[in-house]
Amino acid sequence: MNLELYLDHIKDNGYRCTPQRSNILSYFIGQKNRFVTAKSVTDHLRNTMGYVSFDTVYRNLYLFKDIGIMDLTSQGGENLFHLKNEINTHEHKFICTECGNTTELNLCPMEIMDTSLNDYLIYDHKFEVYGFCPSCL
Ligand SMILES: [Zn+2]
Ligand SMILES: [Zn+2]
Repeated sequence: MNLELYLDHIKDNGYRCTPQRSNILSYFIGQKNRFVTAKSVTDHLRNTMGYVSFDTVYRNLYLFKDIGIMDLTSQGGENLFHLKNEINTHEHKFICTECGNTTELNLCPMEIMDTSLNDYLIYDHKFEVYGFCPSCL
């Protein structure tokens, strides 16, 4: 995970690389493959840069999602965010519900779907596997 690549991608999409955005990305890179809450991102920013509103953090996280570098899932009614290992890739993941660690699955179930949706236009899909990772077992 190279911070510069993500920053370049933000610029390529016409957005500015503010110190805050760069700090959010560094935080995610430090988390390796973990899913984290918007609150923990906000806490990190407040600890390192001073006050920032929850709204601003949320807006940036959703901006990252829109430009294809962030994944979003929800657990127990809470939104969790994860920085994609590669920009704009199509990923499905195993998610450890204990520590938030993720492992990429090397498959997309859409590839083995039967033809029952032949006459439909599919524009999105979601597939996630939950459980405990080896270190949490
Ligand atoms: Zn775990
Ligand atoms: Zn897929």
